[in-house]
Amino acid sequence: MNILYLDDEPRMESTLRRLVQRQGHGFEFCASIKACKTAVAANAPDLLLLDLGLGQESGLDVIDWLADEQIPLPVVFLSGYGDDLLDTAQRIAKSRGVEIRGLVSKALLASDLMPLLDPPPVGPPHRLPSASPGAADASRIRLDAAMLAERIDAGGVEPAFQPIVSLLDGRPCGVEVLARLRLADGSLMNAVDFIPLAEATGLMTPMTKALLRRVIALKERLRPLDLNFLAVNLSRVTLERNEVNDLLQPLVTELKDCCRVIVEVTETEVCHDRRLLQTAGAQIQLLGASLAIDDFGTGYASLRDLAEFPVHTLKIDTSFVSEMFDSMKAMTVLLAIIGLGQRLGLKMIAEGVETEAQRDLLFSAGLEFAQGYLFGRPGELAAIERMVAASRLSADATDPFDACALEA
Ligand code: C2E
Ligand code: CA
Ligand code: CA
Repeated sequence: MNILYLDDEPRMESTLRRLVQRQGHGFEFCASIKACKTAVAANAPDLLLLDLGLGQESGLDVIDWLADEQIPLPVVFLSGYGDDLLDTAQRIAKSRGVEIRGLVSKALLASDLMPLLDPPPVGPPHRLPSASPGAADASRIRLDAAMLAERIDAGGVEPAFQPIVSLLDGRPCGVEVLARLRLADGSLMNAVDFIPLAEATGLMTPMTKALLRRVIALKERLRPLDLNFLAVNLSRVTLERNEVNDLLQPLVTELKDCCRVIVEVTETEVCHDRRLLQTAGAQIQLLGASLAIDDFGTGYASLRDLAEFPVHTLKIDTSFVSEMFDSMKAMTVLLAIIGLGQRLGLKMIAEGVETEAQRDLLFSAGLEFAQGYLFGRPGELAAIERMVAASRLSADATDPFDACALEA
């Protein structure tokens, strides 16, 4: 199947290309409606992945064009705006006779998009030809459950640390721990390439245990960093099996004099099951950790959930940040989320901050914390250590209060 992807910004291109090509499909990217028209005329794609927010243009213009020209090209809508807008766009397309194959939230790319494409080719796990022969390219390795279990046993699960900074002074106040898998050839695999398999094959508990053990082993290096918090992710499957205590107790106990533990649970994973969110939230709190709703804005957590459940932090989904300059509506929703969180007394972290313009606007909107490539990519703890050291140096050099403290 040949897939054409139209988006005004190329941020998702490499992720999508990898996902789609891994399934054996062709992939082409274009950044404007004009380029899209040329690509459709030249290559006759089988499916159009269409972003709804196209800067000055709109994905709905593309629907109009397909309808006017009677081009029988099925469309999958891609949007970071959330389900309401996707639903409305689908209704408009239907009324114009354009076939909509599905609706995919950018935040749920892998899990939502893949079932809409052909099933993956069957056969034994194999390595696809690498772009650069000899170079370890973990994303191209087809992992299976046996291989994943072997890697977990062999100590291949490694933590990557991403800084979370205070927008007030740029100081790193916390870190998020993200799982990585070291393969036998030494290459490192990203979470998105093995977490879904771990979830589907019952390997999430051993994977998470192995990851948290590695974090605990670093506690002597974490302590001097004086971080306010360390955030870990828990998947729905481990919440369901009630493994919260087993998984978290050692971490919370070992890091007691080091930093607070925040447990991130993705909004879409818990919002259909209020009981799950309630019991997991209570357990997490009883252990002395705090609950954060991850990818907030992409699921259906109701205002009542936020008010009633022991939620401590909202992590505002990347899609709101990446699209906040695309339209007034996107901006309005973002500001409304920030206002709501503030009124409910929640801590808020904006995810996926990549530019200074995004950072500045979030700060002026009253947001406290941010995470994203602008401040640091996920990596080794040494990078966080360097960042903390640098921020202490600059605080010593500029903070007049330090001088006052010396005089007192
Ligand atoms: P997440 O929890 O929302 O993690 C943030 C993801 O966004 C990370 O991808 C991170 O590398 C990426 N990211 C951070 N800043 C930026 C930015 O400025 N721009 C862009 N484009 N991306 C940014 P990663 O590490 O590949 O993780 C993907 C997802 O896998 C995570 O999304 C999380 O849902 C899941 N995951 C990772 N580690 C674990 C884990 O230990 N347990 C569980 N249950 N899930 C995990
Ligand atoms: Ca997370
Ligand atoms: Ca997130």
